[in-house]
Amino acid sequence: MIFTQEHEALRRSVRQFVERDINPHVDEWENAGRFPIHEIFRKAAGLGLLGISKPESFGGLGLDYSYSIVAAEEFGSIQCGGIPMSIGVQTDMCTPALARFGSDELREQFLRPAIRGEQVGCIGVSEVGAGSDVAGLKTRARKDGADYVIDGSKMWITNSPCADFMCLLANTSDDQPHLNKSLIMVPMDSPGISLGPHLDKLGMRSSETAQVFFDNVRVPQRNRIGQEGAGFMMQMLQFQEERLFGAANMLRGLESCIDSTLAYCKERRTFGAPLIDNQVIHFRLAELSTEIESLRALVYQATEQYINGQDVTRLASMAKLKAGRLGREVSDSCLQYWGGMGFMWDNPVARAYRDMRLVSIGGGADEIMLGIICKLMGSLPGKKP
Ligand SMILES: Cc1cc2nc3c(=O)[nH]c(=O)nc-3n(C[C@H](O)[C@H](O)[C@H](O)COP(=O)(O)OP(=O)(O)OC[C@H]3O[C@@H](n4cnc5c(N)ncnc54)[C@H](O)[C@@H]3O)c2cc1C
Repeated sequence: MIFTQEHEALRRSVRQFVERDINPHVDEWENAGRFPIHEIFRKAAGLGLLGISKPESFGGLGLDYSYSIVAAEEFGSIQCGGIPMSIGVQTDMCTPALARFGSDELREQFLRPAIRGEQVGCIGVSEVGAGSDVAGLKTRARKDGADYVIDGSKMWITNSPCADFMCLLANTSDDQPHLNKSLIMVPMDSPGISLGPHLDKLGMRSSETAQVFFDNVRVPQRNRIGQEGAGFMMQMLQFQEERLFGAANMLRGLESCIDSTLAYCKERRTFGAPLIDNQVIHFRLAELSTEIESLRALVYQATEQYINGQDVTRLASMAKLKAGRLGREVSDSCLQYWGGMGFMWDNPVARAYRDMRLVSIGGGADEIMLGIICKLMGSLPGKKP
């Protein structure tokens, strides 16, 4: 991928924003288990960062997706995983389908304020009984006059405690599981919505996560994105941006683990010599740096194909898989070389170890990515080709 001066200007703009408005507060927000999401989103919106690839007609910058990937990469310099994840939910998880398939009225109501940072969004797909198996979800939206009436619940919903709207995937008919779902925009202050307590997570501490319950929640049918029954297909498309964002967003954090560990190993001495003099350690860090560059190349290749209008399901799934795998490998190896210091809660590598663990689970677990890749190779795991 060839980056222009405009890409580099965007990179600088995100980096300055992160260094000025986010990183000085990360420790405090991680400890608090939340960050001032509306304030941060308004500031990000002021720089155009919440609508980079969204249509200009609704307040976006109208740039191609390579610019979103540059921003995703730079948001990875935030010194925790929770805040970039919350930003990614807003930009690449709960708004892509709305921007692409939503009516003008719906985009005016939800997309424009999301891009302006006036409203925080969340994405409601997973349920207690349906995480990997999205098609098996049970939340139902039944028609009643001009409305949908929604009953059910969604689990592990990032941003939900502070969200103004949810992009909800629900069953709208009794048709087959891939043909009976719709995406519906739901204001979070609708009567009948309630939230469970904040979920106490291993990592991603500064992002807020909860279960969301729907009890006879009424929204107009015009809040549906696109055609009825097309929700599963639109969510699968929406997942492509989620996975590309997730993979790109990992790169800086992975590099930062290597850089800080390298610096530590140059300083820390054992048996009268710096740790880095052990070739086994130096080689391992070199090997992992090479892997990170491979992930970057994969992300850029997928992005290039995406902006050319190609189906990137295979490459986006590969990038998501590789990002999850590397998140575990890099943070685990680096933590090891920090020794006891690596086991301390506040060590940045320990934070990465906790935060990056999610990447192999959320937004489609590693095994789901492998299943998609197998399917596109012409065979399903466990089934004869
Ligand atoms: C911090 C956090 C934030 C999240 N945010 C959101 C959000 O904002 N919105 C949202 O909708 N969801 C969200 N999720 C949910 C997330 O996407 C799901 O947790 C994920 O899809 C896995 O679903 P599950 O937890 O039900 O695991 P399960 O489906 O129960 O699977 C458990 C494990 O079994 C394995 N597995 C599953 N199926 C297969 C298979 N076919 N073959 C082999 N192995 C398999 C995988 O290793 C998987 O991790 C979030 C989750 C977390 C933890």
